[in-house]
Amino acid sequence: MAEFTKETIVQDALDMGYSHAGLVDVKTLKPQDDVREMCAANKCHMYNKNWSCPPGCGSVAECDAEMQSYDWGVLVQVTMEMEDEMDYEAWVDAAQELRDRNVELNEKLREKYDEVLGLGGAGCDICKTCTYPDEPCRFPKKRMSGMEGYGLVVADVCRDNGLLYFYGKDTITYTGMFLLKDKK
Ligand code: SF4
Repeated sequence: MAEFTKETIVQDALDMGYSHAGLVDVKTLKPQDDVREMCAANKCHMYNKNWSCPPGCGSVAECDAEMQSYDWGVLVQVTMEMEDEMDYEAWVDAAQELRDRNVELNEKLREKYDEVLGLGGAGCDICKTCTYPDEPCRFPKKRMSGMEGYGLVVADVCRDNGLLYFYGKDTITYTGMFLLKDKK
């Protein structure tokens, strides 16, 4: 039975269907202004429109302080094979699979831990229309920001914690991360 402790969480995540998982040392998490500047370019049309995305998710300094307040974490990845590098369906399927797995893992971790910070591959799309910026978020415990939204270079986080970011030609990988606080 899954226990979701520091000792078991990697195997627990693999048992849930993630392709790869590894522990995260929060000290390796270094949010960067230039990643957030890419968000501000607003290619995804989510900038300044959602509590999970910049600037609603907090400044780089605030995201840094929030991440550093956690004790440890786990990186989780979904990898899928593509027929070729234009296999858009595989990109969509992999992104959806990470999202589905993350929703499930977030629920399981919140049963065990008082504080959980889940970061996925993209901003939150739970509500048809986000309450940002006029009303508080409807589901703060379900909401997940993207790792880039918190200023992280995903490839660097993977490298610094012993996971690959890319698993070879004609594969697509999406990465998420959950940070946890031990009970004091
Ligand atoms: S849960 Fe709803 S209100 Fe909260 S960030 Fe997501 S879309 Fe916005």
